[in-house]
Amino acid sequence: MPELPELQALAEGLDETLSGKEITTVRAHLPAALKSADPPPDALVGRRVAKVWRRGKLIGLDTGDLSVVIHLMSAGRLGITDSKAARAPRNAVFDIGFGEEGRLRLRELSSTHRASVHVLTPGALDAHRPLARLGPEPLGLEPQAWKEALSQPQARLHTALRDGRRVAGIGRCYADEIMWAARLAPFASSTRLSDEEWERLATGADLVLAQAIDRARGRISTDLPNKEARLTVAHDHYGDPCLRCGTSLERVSYVSYELVYCPHCQTDDRVYADRRRSRFLR
Ligand SMILES: [Zn+2]
Repeated sequence: MPELPELQALAEGLDETLSGKEITTVRAHLPAALKSADPPPDALVGRRVAKVWRRGKLIGLDTGDLSVVIHLMSAGRLGITDSKAARAPRNAVFDIGFGEEGRLRLRELSSTHRASVHVLTPGALDAHRPLARLGPEPLGLEPQAWKEALSQPQARLHTALRDGRRVAGIGRCYADEIMWAARLAPFASSTRLSDEEWERLATGADLVLAQAIDRARGRISTDLPNKEARLTVAHDHYGDPCLRCGTSLERVSYVSYELVYCPHCQTDDRVYADRRRSRFLR
């Protein structure tokens, strides 16, 4: 699932490639993915791209007085394809064509079809709820702003970190990485952190996200790969030794993912209950 670093690299690559290019065709392969009715997507034809941007996990494309906002959700992927094939692949959702320059294609890897496209006027862009409700961008956020964003209402820290309305762009992967870097317990109550812990969170998030953006720029420019080849130290490393202290990393398993942490560095040698673990112990 793409998160802030991958989407930032993609937005920068697309901006560099598409800015100034004229939109020649628009095609909704999956009409239900287009969630806005007016203006019609054909209104984009003949306009030039002014900017491609990212906010949270949303990608936007401005053409002066009309914008396209793309929600990739977990299985949407976006990239430029120069395929000349007459038939689009089955996973194609929405194409914005640029003549001979190829087309920007939204595709979806799962059959749940949650990725969506909105074509918006400036007023509708300002009012677009998923954008308007987003919390601040995490990179460079001061400790006090982290506290304001995450502490109320009370939640487990890992959950609060992944809530885009509190702070934008962080998902399961970078939540694990940031918690590990900041040596914070994923299930700590967001109302009970000390000032020193908020500082650790701000520093850890900056370190993790800046490094991840740098790496993402090296491998992503105009197409988001189906699988993120990320370099992580905690996420997806259950059972591996912690790079800081050597303790085996623990996990808490959920239906479709697992949260990974170091029980020595992060939870004072406490191991959280895990349904997979308790099945073995029974
Ligand atoms: Zn450790």
